[in-house]
Amino acid sequence: MNEARDEIFCCDSLREVVAGLPAPAAPTVYRAENGVLMMVVGLVQTEEGLGYLDQAIMHCPFCGTKLQDAKAIAEKVSH
Ligand SMILES: [Zn+2]
Repeated sequence: MNEARDEIFCCDSLREVVAGLPAPAAPTVYRAENGVLMMVVGLVQTEEGLGYLDQAIMHCPFCGTKLQDAKAIAEKVSH
């Protein structure tokens, strides 16, 4: 076992969907630079190109484990 930050992953399904993205694919679940786990929930076509609508994942979509809470995320994204 390595004790990297990857311990945020609660189950293999979540780990694989984050780790297994082929490079050109649109990310659906990813870890933002601030460490918050995010999920793309939609795409928007703008004048500048395709944009992503994303939101932080509070609970694992696969097994339901609570991963993050809104308060912690708010602290991470505040400037
Ligand atoms: Zn899970």
